[in-house]
Amino acid sequence: MSDCIFCKMVNGEIQPDVVYEDDQVLAFRDLNPQAPTHVLVIPKRHLSTTNDFQPEDAALAGRLILAAKKVAEIEGLDQRGYRMVLNCNAEAGQAVFHVHLHVLGGRAMKWPPG
Ligand code: AMP
Ligand code: ZN
Repeated sequence: MSDCIFCKMVNGEIQPDVVYEDDQVLAFRDLNPQAPTHVLVIPKRHLSTTNDFQPEDAALAGRLILAAKKVAEIEGLDQRGYRMVLNCNAEAGQAVFHVHLHVLGGRAMKWPPG
């Protein structure tokens, strides 16, 4: 998707602050962090929302979670704790329409989320 900011990160047009990368996912620091660690994990393939995941994408969905776990280890949060968030569409507050998993940590999290 040529007009998608996260696709531009995948194809190198924009250079994010990369924390982790493999053949299917890219993880980079959020521009407007909401916690001491705030990293976004995205599939390199464009999917607009989690509604676009199909059964054949199960492995890719799993890779997002495994990458988030890796980010938590890199950031030293795996034992302290961290939160994964996937916002889908308007009421959840999705602003960028390329699937991204937020990894948040480094402070105590509230529940329920606002
Ligand atoms: P969401 O509200 O779930 O769609 O989250 C979108 C996230 O993308 C927000 O936390 C933004 O701060 C973040 N974001 C938007 N543009 C950039 C960018 N160029 N680099 C890093 N993070 C970004
Ligand atoms: Zn995209």
